[in-house]
This record gives sequence, C-alpha cells and structure tokens, in this order.
Amino acid sequence: MVKQTIQIFARVKPTVRKHQQGIYSIDEDEKLIPTLEIIVPRDLADGFVNNKRESYKFKFQRIFDQAAKQEAIFESIAKPVAESALAGYNGTIFAYGQTGSGKTFTITGGAERYTDRGIIPRTLSYIFEQLQKDSSKIYTTHISYLEIYNECGYDLLDPRHEASSLEDLPKVTILEDTDQNIHLKNLSLHQATTEEEALNLLFLGDTNRMIAETPMNQASTRSHCIFTIHLSSKEPGSATVRHAKLHLVDLAGSERVAKTGVGGQLLTEAKYINLSLHYLEQVIVALSEKHRSHIPYRNSMMTSVLRDSLGGNCMTTMIATISLEKRNVDESISTCRFAQRVALIKNEAVLNEEIDPRLVITRLQKEIQELKDELAIVTGEQRTEGLTEAELIQLEKLITSFLEDQDPESRLEVGADMRKIHHCFHHLKKLLNDKKILGKSSVSSEIKDQDQDQGCQYPSKEEEYKKLQDILKQRDNEINILVNMLKKEKKKTQDALHLPSMDRSEFRRTQTSPFPPGNPEESQRTLLSSAPRQAQDTSAFQHRSSLLHKKTGMREEMSLGRQEAFEIFKRDHADSITIEDNKQILKQRFAEAKALGESINEARNKIGHLKEEITQRHMQQVALGISENMAAPSLPDLLEEKLRAQLEEEKRRYKTMFTHLKALKVEIEHLQLLMDKAKVKLQKEFEAWWAEEATNLQANSPAVNSFDHIKSSPQTPEFQHERPRLLSNKSDVNARKILPSPPYPAPFNQKSSTRASLEDSISERPTSSIPLTGDSQTDSDILAFIKARQNILQKKCLGNK
Ligand code: ADP
Ligand code: MG
Repeated sequence: MVKQTIQIFARVKPTVRKHQQGIYSIDEDEKLIPTLEIIVPRDLADGFVNNKRESYKFKFQRIFDQAAKQEAIFESIAKPVAESALAGYNGTIFAYGQTGSGKTFTITGGAERYTDRGIIPRTLSYIFEQLQKDSSKIYTTHISYLEIYNECGYDLLDPRHEASSLEDLPKVTILEDTDQNIHLKNLSLHQATTEEEALNLLFLGDTNRMIAETPMNQASTRSHCIFTIHLSSKEPGSATVRHAKLHLVDLAGSERVAKTGVGGQLLTEAKYINLSLHYLEQVIVALSEKHRSHIPYRNSMMTSVLRDSLGGNCMTTMIATISLEKRNVDESISTCRFAQRVALIKNEAVLNEEIDPRLVITRLQKEIQELKDELAIVTGEQRTEGLTEAELIQLEKLITSFLEDQDPESRLEVGADMRKIHHCFHHLKKLLNDKKILGKSSVSSEIKDQDQDQGCQYPSKEEEYKKLQDILKQRDNEINILVNMLKKEKKKTQDALHLPSMDRSEFRRTQTSPFPPGNPEESQRTLLSSAPRQAQDTSAFQHRSSLLHKKTGMREEMSLGRQEAFEIFKRDHADSITIEDNKQILKQRFAEAKALGESINEARNKIGHLKEEITQRHMQQVALGISENMAAPSLPDLLEEKLRAQLEEEKRRYKTMFTHLKALKVEIEHLQLLMDKAKVKLQKEFEAWWAEEATNLQANSPAVNSFDHIKSSPQTPEFQHERPRLLSNKSDVNARKILPSPPYPAPFNQKSSTRASLEDSISERPTSSIPLTGDSQTDSDILAFIKARQNILQKKCLGNK
C-alpha cells in the first residue's frame, strides 16, 4: 500500500504580451519547498479582496515557469504516475485552471507541432515502450474516453458520434454495485495493442468532441474530459491478474460564473460547470477535514467517476495551470488556493491484484487429473474400459480452452492415459475437418448474400429521380453563392493587379491549395512503405484512415460547386498555413524515413555479409587444421576478431537507426493525425460559413417571395408525403442540414407534366435575381457555366424518368 497526499504542480502559461503580465516570482531553493508568489497591485486588490493583501504565496511540489517544455512536464509529472500504473496502482492526473490557461495544451497537446504533444500521447508512448520491453508478463491495454457536459456523460469513442448530435447520443450513466464500486454504463472500452492504435483513439475522440461542438454549446471549455488507460497484466500460467486505471483528466474552465456575465444558455452551462467544479471543491474540502465521515461524492457525475482518485485507492496528481496576465490574477489566485486544499488530501493506493477464479479452477482440475494419472501408473493399472461421458466432455473442454489460449506456452495436459490421448487426436481431427467444410460453405453463402445485397441496393428509379430533383434544387443555391464568390474573387484579382508591389511568388503560393488533388499523403505513404519490412506497419495507417475516413471523406459528397468554394475558403483560412507547414515537415520526415530505411537495409546486408565471411573464415581455419594435421591454432585469429568487431559495430548502427526510424514513424503518424484534425475543423467551419451564406442569400434574394408564394399554394398529398422521406435521405443529410430549402423549388410533384414543369422552372428562373458582376465577359462565362450545369442535370432527370 502506498500512502500519499495528492501531488500538486503549477504551470505558468507563457504570456504573449509581456507588458500585460502580472507580477509574480518563483522561489525554487533546493532546500525549501518551491513557492509561487503573486503580487496584486493595490487598485486590483481593492476590487476583490477585503483585507487588501498584496502578496500571496503558494507552495507546490514543483513550479514550471513559462519556458517549461512539454517533455519536462511529462518527465516530472506523468512518468512517475505511468510507472506506478504499470506496476498495478491506479493513477490520475488532472489539470485545473481557468479557460485558456493551458489545460488542454498540457494534457493533450498543441494542435500544431509534434513537439507540443502533451501528457496523453507521451504517456501512451512510454507505456507501450515499457510493455514491449517486459516479456515476463502478458499485458492488455484498453482505452476509454468520457466527456461530461452539463452533468451528462458522453462516450467520445461511440461510433454514433459521427452521425448524431451530442444530445441524441446514449448517455453514459453511473451504476454502483453492492460493494459500492462504480461502473459506467454505455462507456465503450477499446483494446489498443499498439501505440498507434491508442493514439488513433485519442484523435478520434478529440475529433468527435470538435464535431459535436457548436457555437451554442462550446463543450470544449465547458466540459470535463477523462481519457482512461486500463492496464491489466498477468504472468503466464499464473491466476493472479493485476489491473490499473490511469485517468488523464482535462477539467472544464474554473472561472467563476459571476465573471462570465452572460445570459441564456451560456449562463446555464456556466452554472452547471461551476456547479460540478463546486461539488469537486466540496468533496476536496470534506476530505481535507480530519473527522468527516460523509464525503459527498454522489452530488455530481464527475466526483462519482473520480471517487477513487480523490481520497481513495489512487495516486493522484494535480496540475494547476495558471495564466498570469494582469486581468487573470484573481482567477490564478483562486486556482492556487484550490491546489493548496487539494494538497491536504491523503490517498491510499493499493496494488489491484485479483485472483481469477476461472484460472484457479482450471489449475486445481489439472492437479487432480495429474494425481489420478500418477496413481494409475503407480498401481500399474492399465485402463481398458471406455471413457465416461463426463470424461469426454471434460476432455473436449480442455481441447477448446487449449485452442483458445493465446499464451504460447500453454499445454494440453491429459496425463499418461492412452485412451485420452487417442481421443484428443480424434477430436482435433474432427474439428479440423469441420472447419474445412464450414470454410467452404461460408464462402459460398457469403457470395450469395452479396448478390442479394446488391440487388437490394439498387435504388428505384423513382428514388433516383427524386434525388436528382433535389440535387438540382441545391445546385441553384450553390450557383448563387458561387456567383457571389466569383465577384469577390474578381475584385481581389483586380486589387492584386493594382498592387504592383505584391510579391508574385507569394501570391502564387497562397493560390495553391493546401491539399492539392491526387492526395500527396497517399504517395508519401507509399514512399514510407519502401522502408524495410520491419518498419512497414501499414495496418496502423489503414486503421487511422478508416476511423477518420467518414469525417475527412465528407468532401466526396460535395458537389463540384461546393468543392470549388471549399478550395477558396481553405486558401484564405488562417489554419492553412499550419497545415501547409505540417505538410512540409511531413514531407521531410517521409524523406528522412525513406533514407533511413535504405541505410537500414544496407546495414542489414552488411551484417549478413560479415556473418558469412566469419563462417567461411572459420571453415577455412578448420580445413587448414585438418589438412596440416594440426590442432586448431591456439593463437586467436586476428582477421576473425576484426570481422567480429565490424559485425558488432554494424549491429549497433543498425539498432540506433532502427530506434530512430521507429520514433520517426510515431512522429509521422502524429503529424498526420494533427493534419486530419485540422482538416475536419476546416471542413466544419466551411459548412458553417456555407450555411450562413445560403441563409443570407435567401433573405436577400427576390426569389424568396416566389418561394413563399409556392409554399403557400396548395400541395398535392404526394408532395407532402415525399418531403419528409427525402429529408431523411441519408447520403444527403449533411448537405441538407446546412442548406436551407432552395429558393426555386420547381413543382416536380406532378408526374404527368414533369417535362413541362422542369423546363418552366428553368426558364422561369429569374436570371436577374442572380447577382451578376456587371462585366459582360465574366457574366456570360457565369451564365454559360450555369446553363451547362442545368442542361446536364436536366438530361439526368429526364433520362431517369
Ligand atoms: P484551456 O484548455 O485551459 O482552455 P488551452 O490549452 O486550450 O487552454 O490553451 C489556450 C491557448 O494557449 C492554446 O492556443 C494553446 O496552444 C496555448 N498554450 C497554452 N499553454 C501553452 C504553453 N505552455 N506553451 C505554448 N502555448 C500554450
Ligand atoms: Mg481546453
């Protein structure tokens, strides 16, 4: 058992504007406990404290000033916790501080650079490295990622996250068993066998969190996120299993509600969050008081989930993130005060060892059988009677568990009874034959199923027609937006032409899209795969891309027009610089990995040659000894020694390069995930912008009136019936969520006059309502573009009918 108070650390966020920085000092005398002193100017002090104190001192385990690197934070804070988790103790690291003070930066990492990766990715890296080194145990690692927002829990790794809004997802709820252990219902656990897989899960959760966030629910600052690594280990053959949970927690912003001063939804959320942090504080106060018997864990979801981390079986560490700008001084002081109270809490971490009863039973059964067999041998009693029903069942069970056991050292122990040995062989043969037959038949049935599926997948012509009809409507809206954009673009180009001082090459650079067609990442991936075989682990990449495919693949559903608009949007977006920079770094890393891969191959070949030379030299020496009828030379062979030295040197070189390549691979993976996340963010912002443009257009366009007119005219039942069905059409759901109803709904509902109404709707379209540029050349280009597109769509519609 390890008794320990909660460790508290402070991290001061770098201030961008030095003149706005508040006054503080850090006293880190080796002999004394490090102290952070915050000086409050008198005028400020008047505002919020009564006793007009000017200087506040707080003690911490360690204080990290502005220049502290992520690496140092990991080494001092997270590594010891990860180590004890590997040894079987629960651990928690939580970041507490006001919004913007660097909690997410510390726990997860920055969104731009690889060196900015935070505690979670570094801890994962460290844990998997240790697991690989330790072959004495069998480890399993699972990941879960929980978000608590407005007192409700959400599973950030729930695949439904992609399609649903936060509110529609099943809530994660707390269940308490009779031993008062907490269980979380609806929170999924995902096994991660490699660092890459775990990293993918982290990014998947973060991306899901970003997607669910809307301007109305800024969940990222108002929710708590708990990333948990579940570790279990057992020695081969042993029935004792060790479990440890490592929670890495990014809490909601700790700012007080009175200061937010906002109304409506925000206030409710702020209140809630402060309420849950308030309950956290209550629990902490209760724990720091000596003779309190009741600790109000159950008041909030977060304190229930973290019950063990607070005053329980856990090694807990808090990082107080502090932003010491003048305007944040009072929040910083309250963060430090909170930390001081937390430091009083004592935890008792115990080794979470458990005896797996199934394993004990199996072991005892084995023992009994062995004793019986021994007895049979000792008494010399050879058995001739048939095996009993129970014995047969027992044997088959043994075979099944032997086949299922992943432990390479497991054995099928049936003792010295030949009847049993024969039966085992028979049974295995039967299993093998059954499998063969099953394999064949399942293949044929799969083929059949596929055929049937495909049959079902063909949409009816009717549906196709409706879909196209719908697309036509959307395109109208797009055209209008595009015309507006064209106008703006034209103006930009003109302005650029009038600015002779503008650097042309710079202009060209900004013109190139951050993600040119042809997906350079794909080609880069192929490059990497030319590295040696050991370094080839494309499965991680595939895993990652399949996880994120749906999100980044949104573009595939975009029309040409929207894609064009997206390209321009992207080009002008501030993030495109980061994406572009990361792409360059990624390119470099791929080139490095490729070169390294080649060197590794060379080293490997050289090692092979050297080994061969040594063997040959050996054989020569032996042959010489025989032919000259001499004993083997007693003097050491200098040439062989030289060769061996070379071999050792090459092996060292190989090992160094290989370690480097592995690190490069992780970096590449991380950069790709960062880029994917940035792309999803960009996409999300584009969708929001597009929706806004469409709404604005509708509000301004004279066609709105004609739409109103149509809307108010009586609709046929079929039309009324059709619309909701169309709205639920899945493939278009994204576009529909964003695009309001188009301004020109053609009366497609009358089947008999489809052609006439379609043509009407097209010719009727008030071209004057399309905002033209006034430039006859451009205008005619736009009109030609629009006409061509309408023609194509019209043909498609008619062809389908
Ligand atoms: P919080 O999660 O507490 O609201 P963030 O971690 O999002 O705050 O930090 C706010 C901003 O400050 C982010 O842009 C982040 O990259 C940056 N930031 C925070 N801490 C640091 C640091 N130590 N070094 C560099 N940038 C930081
Ligand atoms: Mg944050």
